[in-house]
Amino acid sequence: MLSKRIQTLSASLTIAISTLARELKAEGKDVISFSAGEPDFDTPVAVKNAAKKALDEGHTKYTAVPGTPELLEAVANKLKRENGLTYATNQIQTNNGAKHSLFNLFQALIDEGDEVIIPAPYWVTYPELVKYAGGTSVIIETTDESGFKITAEQLKDAITPKTKLLVLTSPSNPTGAVYSKEELEALAEVLKDTKVLVASDEMYEKLVFGDTEFVATASISDDMFQRTITINGLSKSAAMTGWRFGYMASANTELISVMNKLQSQSTSNINSITQDAAIVGLDGTIDKEIEEMRVAFEERCNKAVELFNAVDGLSVVKPNGAFYLFVNIKEVSNDSMQFCKDLLEAEGVAVVPGVGFGSEGYFRFSFATDIETIEEGIKRIERFVQGLKK
Ligand code: PMP
Ligand code: GLU
Repeated sequence: MLSKRIQTLSASLTIAISTLARELKAEGKDVISFSAGEPDFDTPVAVKNAAKKALDEGHTKYTAVPGTPELLEAVANKLKRENGLTYATNQIQTNNGAKHSLFNLFQALIDEGDEVIIPAPYWVTYPELVKYAGGTSVIIETTDESGFKITAEQLKDAITPKTKLLVLTSPSNPTGAVYSKEELEALAEVLKDTKVLVASDEMYEKLVFGDTEFVATASISDDMFQRTITINGLSKSAAMTGWRFGYMASANTELISVMNKLQSQSTSNINSITQDAAIVGLDGTIDKEIEEMRVAFEERCNKAVELFNAVDGLSVVKPNGAFYLFVNIKEVSNDSMQFCKDLLEAEGVAVVPGVGFGSEGYFRFSFATDIETIEEGIKRIERFVQGLKK
């Protein structure tokens, strides 16, 4: 009865584990979860007020498929002001979260047999969306030794005549790795004489630490501007996961236009209230709140890295951005799925196995929660790891 396509699709592992942790908690179990990729902060007040105003003013009707003219203008202004990228409003589409942006993009670009290069560890959703679109994922492995970043050489080796797209995520979920301008330039040099497009997922743009500088992939050169589809949103930076807002921008007007056709036959426009709220999320009004959250994430990151690296048997590379640690467990386990199941059972701590992100021998720990919970969680993880070493 069911389509072959849907039968091969896996459910999101990150969502599955967060849901399981929530259910165990509801049953009264003492569970702490570091599995969700979701800020614990509330959405800034100015954004909420914009939503209330939208309701009061009756902005409750269908809008244009890619978004209202005001919202598209706000996205274009953001990309210009913060990333130095000039897009016209017909080169932008807004979506129900950046996950939906990726869904539309892969459906619009990928044909049966097309190859999509994905550096591992990757966010769980990419290979599933590639598969659902009929394509094949070509995975480039990276490890903590290379800072979880691909080299120009690796990219060159992975490209074949069937390569359609490269997916880049900087800052990365799950490793927090951030590509520097020089590293992006080296990748751009490899792509220069190819037809390969780039999907640049910049969801964690605002969450960078220390002297790390975020560089938008499309800003590297005119060639990169032409071949890159920039994907971003407000879920992570503005603590707006539940509002469902993401967007894409591409120099290729035809690509945006066919994705509008697809969206017109699936979800139409995104929620009209969210659209008004997103304008305030994008126009600089909440810069102060975003910076406060970034500072809190950085403090938590420093604390968590220090605590993990003091645990005998575990190690972690300090991330330059996002809100995840990708913790190396190779000294104590070669089966991250089993490790995470046993950890949840023994200590009531939920983390996500590295194997779900395409890299065995690690787990992902989200530090998007308060310091006390982080300390308690790592104490429990340490007790569990000590038990494994005996
Ligand atoms: N890209 C990355 C790298 C993510 O981690 C996520 C989700 N957490 C998304 C895209 C999707 O975000 P959204 O909630 O806006 O759909
Ligand atoms: N992206 C977040 C995460 O990695 C939220 C869950 C999801 O969308 O998969 O946990």
